[in-house]
Amino acid sequence: MKLLKALFLAAVLGVGCSQVGAGEEAYSTARSRLAASIGDYAVPIDQSADPRIVRQIATVPRHLFVPSSHRAEAYNDYALPIGEDQTISQPSLVALMTHLLRPEPGDVMLEVGTGSGYQAAILSGLVRHVYTIEIVGPLARQSARRLTELGYRNVTVRHGDGYAGWPAPAPFDGIIVTAGAEHIPKPLVDQLKPGGRMVIPVGSTREGQRLRLITKDRSGKIGEQVIIGVRFVPLTRDVRE
Ligand code: SAH
Repeated sequence: MKLLKALFLAAVLGVGCSQVGAGEEAYSTARSRLAASIGDYAVPIDQSADPRIVRQIATVPRHLFVPSSHRAEAYNDYALPIGEDQTISQPSLVALMTHLLRPEPGDVMLEVGTGSGYQAAILSGLVRHVYTIEIVGPLARQSARRLTELGYRNVTVRHGDGYAGWPAPAPFDGIIVTAGAEHIPKPLVDQLKPGGRMVIPVGSTREGQRLRLITKDRSGKIGEQVIIGVRFVPLTRDVRE
């Protein structure tokens, strides 16, 4: 009787496992398809895709960064809600913004607007360390837990207002702001290394923003370039517990 019960359990668990396996395989196929389909993400800046970035899109499990109700859509190239009125960005835009930072393996980067943690996970495989700040408490806690559980060890999440940057690990090789700012925060420009790059959507929430690339040359001179029109949730100053 005991043996029968054990066999029965094994059969049930076995079926369960193979279903999970099949699900993961479907996600992996969809992820590869997504990575292939956004291969022209750098066209707006007249460049070809960076294979390292395409590889990150093909590797980071976006379905684990979205609420389970949206998992089936995780490998479509559009933004999705992540709760708290916030969104995870469109993968092709994540790729473009990452490309604009020109990540190098020794770099230390700052992200303002952790959200789900997906952009930080994409960057983590390309640079030495990612510091990321999120103003909404539940999102900061959830993404910190998620990034740890998924094994992204070179990402540090902090809850707070990213307008002021993160003075302790500054200056940064790159800064990425993933919320729409009305103007470019001066503390962020100050925390950029000479030779560093910052990507930031600037403009009003109502009319949408323009993605800007800010560069600081070796002598500290600031350059600015408008890349494309974008629509991000606003950069706020309202720290939510
Ligand atoms: N990069 C995210 C998506 C960003 S959505 C991802 O990969 O999922 C923008 C995020 O910026 C939201 O979670 C919002 O709460 C956060 N945010 C807005 N203003 C902020 C500020 N001043 N400092 C830090 N985070 C901020």
